[in-house]
Amino acid sequence: MRPLRNGGGGRQQGNGNFGSIFDDVFGDIFSGGGGRGGRSGAQRGSDLKYILELTLEDAVRGTNPKIKIPTLVECMECLGSGAKKGTAPISCVQCGGMGQVTARQGFFSIQQACPRCRGTGKMISDPCGKCRGQGRVEEQKTLSVKVPGGVDTGNRIRLTGQGEAGANGGPAGDLYVEIHVRDHQIFTREEEHLYCEVPISFVDAALGGELEVPTLDGKVNLKIPKETQTGKLFRLRGKGVDVSKIRGGGIGDLYCRVTVETPVKLSKRQKELLQEFAGESDAKQSPKQTGWFDNVKRFVDTLTD
Ligand SMILES: [Zn+2]
Ligand SMILES: [Zn+2]
Repeated sequence: MRPLRNGGGGRQQGNGNFGSIFDDVFGDIFSGGGGRGGRSGAQRGSDLKYILELTLEDAVRGTNPKIKIPTLVECMECLGSGAKKGTAPISCVQCGGMGQVTARQGFFSIQQACPRCRGTGKMISDPCGKCRGQGRVEEQKTLSVKVPGGVDTGNRIRLTGQGEAGANGGPAGDLYVEIHVRDHQIFTREEEHLYCEVPISFVDAALGGELEVPTLDGKVNLKIPKETQTGKLFRLRGKGVDVSKIRGGGIGDLYCRVTVETPVKLSKRQKELLQEFAGESDAKQSPKQTGWFDNVKRFVDTLTD
């Protein structure tokens, strides 16, 4: 016994230290997430993601849709054990119910999850017919999701415990409902603001007038001042999206961008009128064009210098 204490004894202690380090590492890897269970093989169910498509109106106002999701739920036949009704799982013959086996590598002995029972410590000799011994079955689950007004594409709503059922008594995962807002035929959205394009005739743009523009709460009148240029943005305060329930802050605005349209399919009479109009016109009446020609002239001059 004496030589062991001097030489081999020291080595043995070394082995012991390494052994405990290895135990920690493998313990984490094989415990199946969150360090829960380990020996019992309890595993948390997977998180699930569901893409919820919404119209812009529903996203802005909030909605309460019912969604159907395929998910793994506990088998009601065997109550999740995976063993046929009236029978119970037996202890694994390879690990004796410990869920772990010891493998030797040289001087070291390391604990590993039992390959036969995959760490559960249990074996099913008579599997449940409904779940084929899995303890879980796939099912369509109908859930009601409360979507607050103001959500936007990419926002996620977590439904705790509505993911896949856990295995061997582990907790269920979570369900993440990810919002995807469909394109709207009139409005685009940027944060809390809405944008829309409003085409107007060049006559209305020149003389000014009033026109109806859509908002998400119905139509409102927009006053177009005389000499309005194309691309001008008009702000309708408070006609955007209320994001106070999502991230604080208030209600956004609606921006209407005016596009001045060139008339098409002119009649002979209209052409005559426009030619007459052009004869009366002056370069100064096209402020942007005058400035543009001046810039072009200056630019060309720099090239020829
Ligand atoms: Zn079953
Ligand atoms: Zn085993």
